[in-house]
Amino acid sequence: MNTPHRLGQTAIVVGASTAGLLSARVLSEYYDEVIILERDHAEDLAMTSLRPRKGIPQSRHIHILLSGGEMAISDLLPGFADDLVAAGAQTGNFAYTIRWRLSGHWYPQFKSDLAQYVQSRPVIDQIVTRKVLAIPNIRVVSGVKVKDYLLDSSATRVTHVEAQNEEGDITHYDADFVIDAGGRGALYPRWLKDSPYGAPPEHLIGFDLAYSTCTFDRDPAIDHTWLLTALYPHIPDELRGGVVCCIENNQYLVTLYGYHGDHPPTDEAGFKEFAKSLPSPEIYDSIKDLAPKGDIIRHKFIGSLRRHYERMPRTPQNIVAIGDAMCSLNPAFAQGISGVALEVKAMQGVLADHAQGHISQAALPKKIYHALSRVIDVPWDISRDECFKYPHTTGNRSILYAPQTWVKDHIMRSNDPDVLNQFFRVVHLVDSPFSLLQPRILAKLFRFTQHKQISNEDTAIVASR
Ligand SMILES: Cc1cc2nc3c(=O)[nH]c(=O)nc-3n(C[C@H](O)[C@H](O)[C@H](O)COP(=O)(O)OP(=O)(O)OC[C@H]3O[C@@H](n4cnc5c(N)ncnc54)[C@H](O)[C@@H]3O)c2cc1C
Repeated sequence: MNTPHRLGQTAIVVGASTAGLLSARVLSEYYDEVIILERDHAEDLAMTSLRPRKGIPQSRHIHILLSGGEMAISDLLPGFADDLVAAGAQTGNFAYTIRWRLSGHWYPQFKSDLAQYVQSRPVIDQIVTRKVLAIPNIRVVSGVKVKDYLLDSSATRVTHVEAQNEEGDITHYDADFVIDAGGRGALYPRWLKDSPYGAPPEHLIGFDLAYSTCTFDRDPAIDHTWLLTALYPHIPDELRGGVVCCIENNQYLVTLYGYHGDHPPTDEAGFKEFAKSLPSPEIYDSIKDLAPKGDIIRHKFIGSLRRHYERMPRTPQNIVAIGDAMCSLNPAFAQGISGVALEVKAMQGVLADHAQGHISQAALPKKIYHALSRVIDVPWDISRDECFKYPHTTGNRSILYAPQTWVKDHIMRSNDPDVLNQFFRVVHLVDSPFSLLQPRILAKLFRFTQHKQISNEDTAIVASR
């Protein structure tokens, strides 16, 4: 294996969530020191308890980890999956222990080749944070907000990152390379707008979604064969969906959601009524006799947002935005963390080429953005198409919307474990969508379309308590 070439003294990462921490892990191979600047306080970052962090408000809600994301994180941080289990994550076979209803159709239960880990989001954050901050040349400065990027006299490179603590003290950090992983509301796109470079082109797909989430203690004597039940709305006829997960410490984590303004309430009676109104009773039955632990929390999400930095004619040479700062995906498809982990792996490949002298500094951001964009195209297309089945969804649909939707709907209704297994590998961001074009899969799909077995009625749920 080639030893990475050193690229500089100091790399600065803004934000200590998934994108920032995993990026720091990669940069630690190339820079003498990696400094993560995070506005949350040290005691929050220590994650001594499984309390959601203030700077990651979405971490109170269900976070499903796709297999592609688990594999990418395990690759960057060996032992990650074992640590999830040690922290109480439940594990099972994806198509055997996850029940889900999509487009009015329950998937058949079968043994797929995908492992599923089920836990609350703070479990993931705790493990990733501890593993990354144990790397000797990474340190975090907490309780500071990054306010500005300072350019050199030719306005081509960021020389310093300006951060302010709660007392108002300003510090300028020297930077050879900068990553803005500040999430959807990150500074970098706003800073670009006011700079000579201008704002990146944006694409917003609007569907006015809201989540309401609550935790319940569950009876440990109930031995579930399922770990998670997901009721996706049958679009466009239904606006409401929900998920119940068996997470660590014998708890149910329940998220209810509604599109296009049909938002779930945050009081107990309203929450249970909303659960009861779902087209199938599994979630309501799980919680109807249980008392919520703590408040019911709401998160509004107006739509998926993609910033096309790769389409900008030029950007500063030594700063890139990654993670939700580049693309924030519809949470109902559970692609965020996995997309981020795969982006970081793509950036790792480009940095390796840069370190070998194959990519110049001037070309680096563009190369990184093209690599990230190729990664994000897949989850973006998967979640985008489904949302456009609602006539009220705003934004631009893909020109391939009709054929792609037709193929996906037929795959999903084929009930063929072989076809579905390959489809799930694509949805879990393990395999490319082109893998569905294998002759074996196409032949089965063709036979299925000839027999016209499509039905809009629910098939029987195979997995049960
Ligand atoms: C309701 C909801 C549910 C979701 N469910 C899932 C799911 O089931 N599965 C899944 O994989 N993904 C899910 N996601 C997406 C997932 O949460 C994100 O993709 C993931 O957290 C990665 O985001 P990130 O690291 O880019 O940014 P974030 O997680 O938003 O973190 C940004 C970090 O930067 C810090 N920061 C921001 N600005 C500054 C600044 N100026 N100075 C210093 N620090 C700063 C913040 O404090 C924070 O720590 C969901 C998202 C939402 C909203």
